Amino acid sequence: MNRHVNDLFVKNSKKEGLRSRSSYKLIEVQEKRKFIKPHSIVVDLGAAPGGWSMATTKYIRKEAGGRVIAVDLLKYASVENCVHVQGDFTHERTLKEVETALDGRAVDVLLSDMLHNTTGHKQTDHFRSLDLCYAALDFADSFLGTGGSIFMKFLRGQDDKELVSAVQELQFIDGVKILKPAASRKESAEAYLLAMDRAAPTALRAQQD
Ligand code: SAM
Repeated sequence: MNRHVNDLFVKNSKKEGLRSRSSYKLIEVQEKRKFIKPHSIVVDLGAAPGGWSMATTKYIRKEAGGRVIAVDLLKYASVENCVHVQGDFTHERTLKEVETALDGRAVDVLLSDMLHNTTGHKQTDHFRSLDLCYAALDFADSFLGTGGSIFMKFLRGQDDKELVSAVQELQFIDGVKILKPAASRKESAEAYLLAMDRAAPTALRAQQD
């Protein structure tokens, strides 16, 4: 608690009106890689208390078609210009609600900062984090459009390579990068995966021919 209160990122997030320390992780990567565009349809998984969603609304423009659909188990104060879906993302009913909110549009950016309450047992936490990542990837497989990107948190461990392979199967022109933003505590097992520019199905067929 003491470390949290004295943390520079926590202090700045309060001063700058950001809802979470995590906001800086997304902002840092977005400022470098620009994967969220003004027209992007963004699905933000594990969105409470709204830090990433709030940061994302600064990068999109409603007039350009940009939208944020935020999903979390928890109820929290809504973020302006976001559609909120409350529920467990691994449940069919929540997926259906997200699908309804998409209204036939493809997802341009899938964000996932989902994490269970950690147990402190490194391997258990790693596997539980990967379960959430795989749920996000299943969704991406069906709903992430051509040119789409994924920015996702996971807790590092023995099956990292399998996770990267699963992302690679979705075919990203820009490949898959593992990142550790400055705001992510060095001692934390968390890391972020960025995959940009999903290939068009026709380009894939041409590659395979
Ligand atoms: N990105 C957020 C921000 O900047 O404010 C912080 C997210 S917090 C680290 C992780 C969130 O994941 C928690 O709010 C938790 O409720 C959510 N979560 C964990 N499992 C989930 C699931 N199965 N479905 C939806 N949300 C989930």
